[in-house]
Amino acid sequence: MTTLMNTYARLPVAFSHGQGCRMTDTEGREYLDALSGIAVNTLGHAHPKLVAAISSQAGRLLHTSNLYCVREQEQLADKLTALSGLSEAFFCNSGAEANECAIKLARFYGHKKGIEAPAIIVMEKSFHGRTMATLSATGSRKVQAGFEPLVSGFVRVPFDDIEAVRGVAQNNHNVVAVMLEVVQGEGGLHMAKLEYLHQIRQLCDEKGWLFMCDEVQCGMARTGKWFGYQHAGILPDVVTLAKGLGSGVPIGACLAGGKAAGLFGPGNHGSTFGGNLLACTAALTTLEVIEQDQLMAKAERMGELIRQGLREALAGVAGVVDIRGMGLMIGVELDRPCGELVKQGLEAGLLINVTAEKVIRLLPALVFGEAEVGELVPELAALIKKFLTA
Ligand SMILES: *Cc1c(COP(=O)(O)O)cnc(C)c1O
Repeated sequence: MTTLMNTYARLPVAFSHGQGCRMTDTEGREYLDALSGIAVNTLGHAHPKLVAAISSQAGRLLHTSNLYCVREQEQLADKLTALSGLSEAFFCNSGAEANECAIKLARFYGHKKGIEAPAIIVMEKSFHGRTMATLSATGSRKVQAGFEPLVSGFVRVPFDDIEAVRGVAQNNHNVVAVMLEVVQGEGGLHMAKLEYLHQIRQLCDEKGWLFMCDEVQCGMARTGKWFGYQHAGILPDVVTLAKGLGSGVPIGACLAGGKAAGLFGPGNHGSTFGGNLLACTAALTTLEVIEQDQLMAKAERMGELIRQGLREALAGVAGVVDIRGMGLMIGVELDRPCGELVKQGLEAGLLINVTAEKVIRLLPALVFGEAEVGELVPELAALIKKFLTA
């Protein structure tokens, strides 16, 4: 027993150090990390450039306050707006907080248009966080159960179904925004059709709604482009980021452009820690290394290698329903609940995850290379085969 609040069913392992895509536990056993802390350790573990940058920053200043100018924050906002095509950034400390900012922006936008009870269209199987507003936006009863009353102002529709959204558009005149994940991570690795994203963009333009993309998991170059929506060539009004943004140093961001830009004034939103010097230095370094080492292209290539390898190794294996994903966001769907595979992987020295009960989820660091793929594919395929025939 520990004195920790019992919020996670933890695996019986603790790690002492790591290097690249490997971690070593406190007993000295080594593991191949195909999860990177749930899409957080973008540059893998102990990346020398990140270690140097944050060590040096820690020796100067960790935190000042948003009462003062923070140059690193301004640089990071410049960088993220240039990469995303949006025009301004707010920094916070997590994905849920980034989405809270997006939800507040949408409501504020609605009130400015004279809508007193603004509503946001959200998706089935979505995940947006664990705060009251973001768990209310999340499309999972498990996340919500026991925390009622939920925050009102969300209208739920099936994911990737434009007719459902059009139906709401006809009947509900309080709608101010649509919020979705281009690739649903927690919900089981479901990808929106590019056509659907175009249709949502068009509908949002017609209706004067904000199009808000939660890129907390699929953003940061993981899918082979900086942001998932860029595969469709569209531009949302609001984009939220966190997870991989600081490569392990907590930081979140809410980016706004178009109709969503320029809404907030001083006092409308804030964060004590948000965008401090340490976090922004980590994010700036992460972006710099992704660019210098062309990790976007690498993510696309390695993702394809993993999927192809798994398709070959698992061809004809009964019980494998689908192998899918984009870049280094990979799902292997089985025909049965397979949570046990996480523990079996651990025993075999492989760190993986299972989400939506039946979907093995891989989210390796963007530095995952061919040598690691060569290890991961046969080991995981063997685990899956053994599991399915047991
Ligand atoms: C993880 C996640 C969140 C929540 O992020 P936290 O940092 O845990 O608050 C929100 N949205 C998506 C898509 C996520 O994957």
